Amino acid sequence: MELQFHGAAKNVTGSCHLLRCGQSMILIDCGLYQGSRELAEENHNDFGFDPAAIDLLLLTHGHLDHCGRIPLLVKRGFTGTIVTTAASRDLARLVMLDAARIQEEEARYRNYKSNRHDRDREPLLPLYDTFDALNSLDYFTCTVSLERPHELAAGIRATFYDAGHILGSASILLELEEQGQSKRLLFSGDLGYCDRAILPDPTPPPQADIVVMETTYGDRRHKQLEPSVSELYQAITTTVARKGNVLIPSFALERSQEILYYLREGIENGLLPPDLEVFLDSPMAISATQIFRRHPECFDDETWQVIASGRDPFELPRLHFSRETEDSIALKEMQGVVIIAGSGMCTAGRIRHHLRHNLWREEAAVIFVGYAGVGTTARQIIDGAPSITIFREEVEVRADIHTIGGFSAHADQQELLNWHRQTGSPELTFLVHGEEEAMTTFGALLTGTRVILPDNHQSFSLEPG
Ligand SMILES: [Zn+2]
Ligand SMILES: [Zn+2]
Repeated sequence: MELQFHGAAKNVTGSCHLLRCGQSMILIDCGLYQGSRELAEENHNDFGFDPAAIDLLLLTHGHLDHCGRIPLLVKRGFTGTIVTTAASRDLARLVMLDAARIQEEEARYRNYKSNRHDRDREPLLPLYDTFDALNSLDYFTCTVSLERPHELAAGIRATFYDAGHILGSASILLELEEQGQSKRLLFSGDLGYCDRAILPDPTPPPQADIVVMETTYGDRRHKQLEPSVSELYQAITTTVARKGNVLIPSFALERSQEILYYLREGIENGLLPPDLEVFLDSPMAISATQIFRRHPECFDDETWQVIASGRDPFELPRLHFSRETEDSIALKEMQGVVIIAGSGMCTAGRIRHHLRHNLWREEAAVIFVGYAGVGTTARQIIDGAPSITIFREEVEVRADIHTIGGFSAHADQQELLNWHRQTGSPELTFLVHGEEEAMTTFGALLTGTRVILPDNHQSFSLEPG
């Protein structure tokens, strides 16, 4: 048995772990690197293994940093089986198609620019295109239910557990047998936390011999969710009262639906103006909301109660879906409205136009409700940059800036520690999916296990000793 790390090693994105057991090659996630330009360049490199040799790909959830290189894997020869939950399959489809569109647009734009200098230059090809994304859907042939063991091959049994991170997300236990040796390997995937809207709490993990776990917030404690929701209501009420716009840069998956859920509750409970105008300005978030509506099996009891009382958890009296570009451009003229748009880290997407129109206005507000990676526009604004560059234009930051941590989709340090404690005393714990500082801090808190921070493309034999 051998375990290799080909992404999210001392870094948050690009999750991709390879397990060899007997004759089988199993990949756990195949995500895209995101963030700085150097990281994005990594996506073009060799995977570090032969895609054609992979038999199974187990997908923990539909976020881009976990499924975003699947079309590339298929393009480079993968013909195995992709195993995941039904909700993750539907979200991954949306995410991969969107990523393909972005890759195509970026290649077109760069070629257009370089053609102006040198018409004979080889055109830049997208990392993958829409056809590659569509082709990869053919391999999503094995849909699993939670907490039910699935025999994937001789000596390989997988069980998915609810990770409470996004719709359909799972931790995966692999029970492996090779030459009379047996091992229990547990991959945390990304972990959510307790008492969130929409999703149930993460299922307590099973015991394991070897744990591979995420550490996004390994060095941080979250704010409590309840004060965070009050802060959100307060910021919105104050801003719209002075006719300023509220921008909420938001991830299309989960966070946008969570925000809609809380806005509905706020209006129903009289904590937000009843005539609040809300624009969901993201075709992807709109599609994701429809996927949520199709997978109520993933909801928690409170959300079921909302449905049982005849209400839609994601509907507001004055909610507008802006799918078309013209609808988005028209928002420029609006005053005193809430605009939810992507990308969450403000590196691309419609939010950049809204930032350009609003960031310099004292009456406006920007509310960050998610993780902001190093080097991103969101991180610059959060860190207090006096001005930022958007579309080559210097824009002063005069709007109110709020960072509301309670909305994170990731477990914080205490919750990660609790989760790890419940896995028993694993012989080995590999820390992944975190910035190195967070991992080091977190690793020092773990007891009764040997902690390893793997490097990219590093491999480990799991034989005894
Ligand atoms: Zn995730
Ligand atoms: Zn992730």
